[in-house]
Amino acid sequence: MLASLRSIVQEVNSADDLQMALDIIVSRIRDAVNTDVCSVYLHDSAANRYIFMATEGLNKDFTGKISMAVDEGLVGQVALREEPINLHDAESHPNFLFLPGIGEERYSAFLGVPIIHQREVLGVLVVQQKKQRRFDEEEEAFLVTLSAQLAGVIAHAQVTGSIDAMAADDGKPRSARFKGVAGAPGVALGQAVVVSPTADLNAVPRRECKNVEAELKFFHQCLESVRVDIRALSSKLSSKLAPQEQALFDVYLRMLDDNALANEVDERIKQGQWAQGALSKVIRMHVRTFESMEDPYLQERAVDIKDLGRRVLSYLQAAATEKVDYPEQTILIGEELTASMLGEVPPEKLCGLISVLGSGNSHVAILARAMGIPTVMGAVDLPFTQLEGGKVIIDGYNGHVYFNPSEELHNRFQSIYEEEQQFSKELETIKDLPCETTDHHRIPLWVNTGLMADVARSLDRGAEGVGLFRTEVPFLLRERFPSEEEQRKIYRQQLQAFAPMPVTMRTLDIGGDKSLPYFPIQEDNPFLGWRGIRVTLDHPELFLVQVRAMMKANADMNNLRIMFPMISSVPELEEALELLYRAHDELVEELGFELPLPEVGVMIEVPAAVYQTRELAKRVNFLSVGSNDLTQYLLAVDRNNPRVADLYQAYHPAVLHALKSVVDDGHAEGKSVGICGELAGDPGAAVLLIAMGYDILSMNATNLPRVKSVIRSISYQQAKDILAEAMTLDSSRHIMELLDDRLNEAGVKRLLRPVVA
Ligand code: PEP
Ligand code: MG
Repeated sequence: MLASLRSIVQEVNSADDLQMALDIIVSRIRDAVNTDVCSVYLHDSAANRYIFMATEGLNKDFTGKISMAVDEGLVGQVALREEPINLHDAESHPNFLFLPGIGEERYSAFLGVPIIHQREVLGVLVVQQKKQRRFDEEEEAFLVTLSAQLAGVIAHAQVTGSIDAMAADDGKPRSARFKGVAGAPGVALGQAVVVSPTADLNAVPRRECKNVEAELKFFHQCLESVRVDIRALSSKLSSKLAPQEQALFDVYLRMLDDNALANEVDERIKQGQWAQGALSKVIRMHVRTFESMEDPYLQERAVDIKDLGRRVLSYLQAAATEKVDYPEQTILIGEELTASMLGEVPPEKLCGLISVLGSGNSHVAILARAMGIPTVMGAVDLPFTQLEGGKVIIDGYNGHVYFNPSEELHNRFQSIYEEEQQFSKELETIKDLPCETTDHHRIPLWVNTGLMADVARSLDRGAEGVGLFRTEVPFLLRERFPSEEEQRKIYRQQLQAFAPMPVTMRTLDIGGDKSLPYFPIQEDNPFLGWRGIRVTLDHPELFLVQVRAMMKANADMNNLRIMFPMISSVPELEEALELLYRAHDELVEELGFELPLPEVGVMIEVPAAVYQTRELAKRVNFLSVGSNDLTQYLLAVDRNNPRVADLYQAYHPAVLHALKSVVDDGHAEGKSVGICGELAGDPGAAVLLIAMGYDILSMNATNLPRVKSVIRSISYQQAKDILAEAMTLDSSRHIMELLDDRLNEAGVKRLLRPVVA
């Protein structure tokens, strides 16, 4: 059973489009369950009906043509009840609906299973049999399992299909919306440019070729280059390989010489596709065919074809002469964007980013925030290879991507964009004004940095210090750990740029989702694993070099503060402090002059630290709450997982109560308490945080002016009143509504989250 389940899912997964996926589903399931009929009905949300989409056993002429209302028939019942219906005689059921023509009347036994993806009923999977019998328990369980697994694939194929339909639609364009995770705030309207990693057959963007003859010639040149490579490889290894292994190269050469493969690619190029796209399509088709074969030897050939395809693709990519002509408003899209990919685009043309993988905390998102480029991450259902050249809108506040937007939608976002530009201009006027409430309660606004690029933006926006310098960012940009001297220079630049304002440097915080290419950490549960201070305490050589570099950089500046990430117990903090003091003493001895001992702080970002705030505070100079991690750990929601992104609620009452408790306990020990998670940069949350008593809010530079504007519009008393009310509410939704209402009443023009679509 499991083997057949796996092979069905695998085959469906590699289908090119929705119809192909559905056809595979019905034919494979009918065989696996050994029954007469298998059909799929899918929900059409525009018509609110279930469409008879695919069948094996009933009349195929009717697929896509007939449908039933959502409350009609057994299919409607299965969907409505969201559970299987298993009947030995379907016709005798009161909900049975006779659909003339499809040929159902001969079948008595009926088993319908809902297809549900992310709580939404996508459709119903039905098997039927002539004989009056109940499908047995095992068959029912098999279908339920399969349906649960296929739901995601169908949902993905559905959105992909809708893109195809739109491309063909020359009348009114419909828009498709894809959900991702907010990466960097802002709205962007532009044209898609898809970037793909080299030699990835699944990530080749769909493009047309301009000159068919030249493209054909180019393709054949690349084929020839691969032939030459393989012959060379074969003769180089001839003495080391057994004859049967050597034969593999002959297989490769025969595949290349076999005109069928090249002919198929040629045909597609002649139809107007570019060589890379044509090759990827043909190779993937053959791979699929081989993978679905029963014979293990033939199955293995899929690997060879894939390898060969990759080799040819590498040549096509390396030799591609066409330079990418970046449009004026480029929206860069990729499966996994990297910093170097961003670097390729002229900065004045880059207006938005979309990454299929990754999260709001990925390196590229941090970079995007620093550069103020609206970004959506984790858009896992985005059929990114098909978007090349299309119109795209990014809503970086909510993590939404709109492809091929209607005129109305475009205009709506265009006006949000213009409003934003206008708002930013207005905000420039308050750059040099203090961040204080109308009744003069002062709150310093600091910034989070990681790159030198952040410095100018931060200063430009009136930052009063750095609350979090993510030191792992320069580590991520290298191919090995930076040396002490390399680090000293980087830290020195930061300290100098902001002096005499304080700069808070966090010791290396790797692990979790931040892994260094040259120091990979493989774990099943990385966020609960070897992260932050746990790594550096286990590697004192890394820790000592880093804090030495920081203190050396601070020699004649004295604006350094050091803080430790992921502290979850007092002994851990004591160990880190001991190492820090040791490094300081050694440095003083080595250098022969007194070095300032920086202020030291602890990040409160683990629930255990919340309950030990006072114990921790006693041992340091300051506390800083990392609300990003604290939220994920309190709510048990992976901050990077788009599937549970809705549950990652920064305004959750539990989070707010924890934040209040930290600030109260920190103050009880007479220590300054700041916050440097993303929450501090949310203007609504900032109101709550100042009312709680936070001493410093540290955020990305992009959000700083908005936060300042909101704080300057209300009184401290108003903020306290809002907080008092918020603390009595029981859900994040109620708290956000309260904030919107109260700030509206207080005349705050708008919050960070503009109301979009
Ligand atoms: C946090 O966890 O809130 C934080 C500021 O650190 P990071 O996002 O780098 O984990
Ligand atoms: Mg953190």
